[in-house]
Amino acid sequence: MLASTKILKVLGEEDLKFPALTNVNRSDDEKVFVTRPSLPPLEEFIPYLEDIWKSKVLTNNGFYHQQLEIELAEYLGVPYISLFSNGTLALLNALQTLRITGEVITTPFSFVATTHALHWNGIKPVFVDIDPVYCNLDPAKIEAAISPQTTAILPVHVYGNPCDVYEIEKIADNYGLKVIYDASHAFNVKINGESVLNFGDLSVLSFHATKVFTTFEGGAIICHDEKTKKRIDFLKNFGFADEVTVVGPGINAKMNEFQAALGLLQLKYIDEYISKRKEIAQTYRKELSSIGGIRMLREIESVKHNYAYFPIFIDEEKYGTSRDDLYNKFKENNIYARRYFYPLISQFPTYRGLESASPENLPIAEKITKEVLCLPIYPSLDFEDVSGIVNLTKNFAL
Ligand SMILES: *Cc1c(COP(=O)(O)O)cnc(C)c1O
Repeated sequence: MLASTKILKVLGEEDLKFPALTNVNRSDDEKVFVTRPSLPPLEEFIPYLEDIWKSKVLTNNGFYHQQLEIELAEYLGVPYISLFSNGTLALLNALQTLRITGEVITTPFSFVATTHALHWNGIKPVFVDIDPVYCNLDPAKIEAAISPQTTAILPVHVYGNPCDVYEIEKIADNYGLKVIYDASHAFNVKINGESVLNFGDLSVLSFHATKVFTTFEGGAIICHDEKTKKRIDFLKNFGFADEVTVVGPGINAKMNEFQAALGLLQLKYIDEYISKRKEIAQTYRKELSSIGGIRMLREIESVKHNYAYFPIFIDEEKYGTSRDDLYNKFKENNIYARRYFYPLISQFPTYRGLESASPENLPIAEKITKEVLCLPIYPSLDFEDVSGIVNLTKNFAL
């Protein structure tokens, strides 16, 4: 408390109460977005800031950075974790870590950073279709896409639902391919009690403001051994092994102390955040199940979910109106649901010329991208808003 009083004096009480008054678009107060960042009480963050001010250690593997790596590894149940300034740089570095080249098999149904990470590494993405239920890369279609240039598979645990990790591992082992999971949505997701982040050669997390666990911006790579962790740590710090030794063409992708400090504080609240998300997901599931033409994803018994997203899939014929009509209706009512993922990555100008990007190659993804709508879900979403969303979805179908 003492710490926060001091800061209050410096800033003036009013500044803290309305810290961004000049930035706030007041009508935003009434808007319900697909997500909102979860933040701990500000006064609990102030002592961390004071400490950073005192120590003058702002970045470069500082105390909070080291501590967050330890605590996160323990919390997630993973052996080694290396923190990054954001998830995209972690993806870029993961590909560099394993020296991936040539062609990589990936999904068109993701956030565009997944494929951009390949492009920035000079790697040709090869799109493979998704499964029609959970929207993850379909293992049955991977083998047909393997060429002599293929070196790796880059699947995504979309909405935090695990890919068929066992089948993907089998294929990778058969063909001598590496597997890097874009696990941006899969913070603390477990299969039969085991972290989903432990599958594949590497897994990449994002701690962006829109994710379940946020450090403002941030990300991480999870790996299995100390040697790999060392290489990852070199690469994110310009390739420096010591003061005078540069072991390779690294980059600057380090997480700073402010991000790491927030992460440590967030860990105290993360279970609470996830259980609130779960409550909302359960309400949606119960209330929306009676509506014809709306499909939801079932919880998987062997999986510990994180409720990162709540996608619904609209069958226009049965529901009586299109996904986009519902999306627009929501908007008229200040509810900003999002069409994750639309358009498909394979439809963006950078990639649409690729042979594997043709709609004939990706019929399931092409269908699902027109049906999906992600409903608002975040810990502070109040029950009234959930009811409003439910009622609108019910009544609009009539
Ligand atoms: C958020 C996200 C990223 C990018 O992470 P950033 O931390 O925003 O750079 C990459 N892939 C997927 C699937 C994501 O959802």
